[in-house]
Order: sequence, then C-alpha cells, then structure tokens
Amino acid sequence: MTLSPERTVAELRELQELTGDENGSQRVAWTETWERARRWLREKVVSTGAEEEIDEAGNQWFTLPGASERALLLGGHIDSVPNGGWLDGCLNVLAAVEVLRRIAEEGTPALTVRLVDWADEEGARFGRSLFGSSAAAGSMSDQDELRRRRDADGIALPDALAEHGVDLDRAPEARRRLDGAAAYLELHIEQGPVLESLGLPLGVVLGTFGVERHQITFRGQAAHAGSTPMDKRRDALAGAARLELEIRDIAERVGDGAVCTIGSVVTKPGIVTSVVETAECLLDQRHLDAGRLAELLRGAEEASREFAREEGLDVEWQRVWSIEPIPFDERLIELADESIREVAGSSHRLPSGPLHDAAEVARAGVPTVMLFVQSLRGLSHTKLEDTKEEHLELSVRALDLLTTKALGAFT
Ligand SMILES: [Zn+2]
Repeated sequence: MTLSPERTVAELRELQELTGDENGSQRVAWTETWERARRWLREKVVSTGAEEEIDEAGNQWFTLPGASERALLLGGHIDSVPNGGWLDGCLNVLAAVEVLRRIAEEGTPALTVRLVDWADEEGARFGRSLFGSSAAAGSMSDQDELRRRRDADGIALPDALAEHGVDLDRAPEARRRLDGAAAYLELHIEQGPVLESLGLPLGVVLGTFGVERHQITFRGQAAHAGSTPMDKRRDALAGAARLELEIRDIAERVGDGAVCTIGSVVTKPGIVTSVVETAECLLDQRHLDAGRLAELLRGAEEASREFAREEGLDVEWQRVWSIEPIPFDERLIELADESIREVAGSSHRLPSGPLHDAAEVARAGVPTVMLFVQSLRGLSHTKLEDTKEEHLELSVRALDLLTTKALGAFT
C-alpha cells in the first residue's frame, strides 16, 4: 500500500458527513458527536495494527512500535468548534493515519511512531483551549479554576469530563506520555491569508507568537459638549484614538510580522452630550521574538504617556494576559522546508498567530515543527473554511516526507 493522499481527502469528507450538518462540523469535545468521531478514527487505524490508548486527560494515542522505544509523534485534534470547518484539526489526524498506513506496511520503523488526537484543543464548550496537550505538556496549572467552569447549560466541567471517563484531578498524569518523545510534527490549515496571497500551497511554521495583552485606561474630565471650548477639554478618547493610530507605526517599526490590535474601547459616560471622561482600551500585541515583543510593549507605553501628557490626561496600564513566544526546533524547520520544496517546488517560513497543541509540546521541551497548508480566503472556524483538494493532497505528501526525514534525523 503506497501513500494515498486522495484517500485522506475522501476520509475528511466522510468524517464531515458523519459528524457535521448543514451548519458545519459539530465535533465539540466532550459530546456524543465527538465520541462518534473518535470511534470512527479507531476503525480507520485498526488496519495499521497500531495500538490505541486513551490517557488520563482523554487524549487518544495510537502506537506503532519501532526498533527503538523513543517515539516520533504526529499530532492533531478531531474536535471542532460548533458550526466549524471540515479541516481544522482533523486534517492532520487523517494525514497522519495515512502516514501510519504507509509506515506499517513497510515494516518496523526505526523509532516508535505515535499518532495523538489531542482532547479538547478548541475549548469550545468550557472556554479552555489546549486541554489535553497542556496536561501532557505539564503546563495545566489552572485546575482550581477548571473545577468551577460550567458550560452554557450549567454543567460543570469535571462532570462533563467524567461522562467521558476523564477524572480532572488525574489529568496531569498524562504528562508521562511525552516521556521518550524524540520529535513532534503537526500539520494544520493556516487559518490566515498569507500563503494564499503568496500563491503557495505550503509553509513551515517558525513558532507561535508571544502575546502581551493589556487594559489601558485614559482618564480625563467629563464636561458639557456645548459649553466646553475645544481648547479647555481633557478628552480621554483623544488619548485612545491617538494610541490606536500610533500602534500601526509601532508595529511597522518593530517589523518581522509584528501585530498590534486595539480590539475594544469603552468610553464613559458614553453619551453624546459629554466629553469622554474615561476610555478603557484593550490592546493585544504579538511577536515571535521575545525582545521585539518587549519593544512593541515599550513603544505603546511610551506613546500612551506622551499622548496623555499632551491631552491633559492620566493613563494607567494593567496586564490582562501574556504568554512568551514559543519557537520551534531549527533542525525540524530545515527538514520541513526541504520536504515542502520537494513536494511543492517552493516553501515559505511564517509564524503562527493562533496557538496550537504544538506550542504546548514545544514548551515541554520536545523538538517540534508545524506545516501550514493554504486556507482559502483565510477563513476558519466557519463552515466556509476550505482548502483546494490538490493542496490538501500535497500537504499529506509533505507530512509523509517530513516524517521520513525526521525518522532518519532523530534516530
Ligand atoms: Zn486547530
């Protein structure tokens, strides 16, 4: 049996038929539809002889023993958001099944090869993304908070997990599953517009962005819109507005893929007859390099103070959330680049804006890389999510070639 990328496309359609409806994919983790998808996956893998285990965090593992116990991991997630697309997460799972078939037929691989279907990557039901991979990576530190989480129907997270055989208290024991992992590979749709705009089917992911998220509050003085002359105002919105425009220049100056977004500004009193007294902004800044990320933050802080001074305002900063950049493995990036060039002619290196399970695995110290395949119109998390079939097929070939190269390099 040689590699059949066409079969991967057919299986993706079959999965969509089985677990989707007219609104899109419905494989939300910890639901019956998700379990149906996992049972279906089990049937698909049976012929390879790979052995299945479900770990303490609900991750589904399939193991093909090799000459060495050290393992090459291929990962993806079969869960989806409600009304999701037909490719996000499950493309890699099914591409990896195809790679497993090819390897199983050729005999015993040099390293053990394991496919992992991570549990609850999307966090769609309880708002906690990367559940299974963070447990396996040893970075699940929010169990007290998880215990209190409820879904839209008021069902507590621990109860929902228990229905699927997972004990939240024991989930971190999944950590030992990464023992002996030699490398981790993940293919994913890009979910953005970069590869399409370059006319390229595939790219290598350099790592996932670090994120700095802050609430910035400008404070001025509420005053009557009719009786307060323009030069006597302390207008908090003026500070926010100037900062919003300035972050474009800051991102351009720092460069190398830097992005800054003010996604929300709430003004008070928020009526048309008053100058704005307070403007609360939410700023999100991302970069692949920790130093550059710090530069983005410093630039915005300095600009906000300057604008506050000029507008007669006070300004206050509060960190909402942050995560460090997670760079992928340089040797694997080279191998991935080579694999893409061999199957598609040319390659491109790009960072990932969204977080992925791969970031958790990399954070745990396992050499990691991701491949991105072009997304049409950059759309994802909607039934409109799509990728050309010929590109999907190329992506299966690229993952297969990368697997072969990684088996050679990491043995
Ligand atoms: Zn995904």
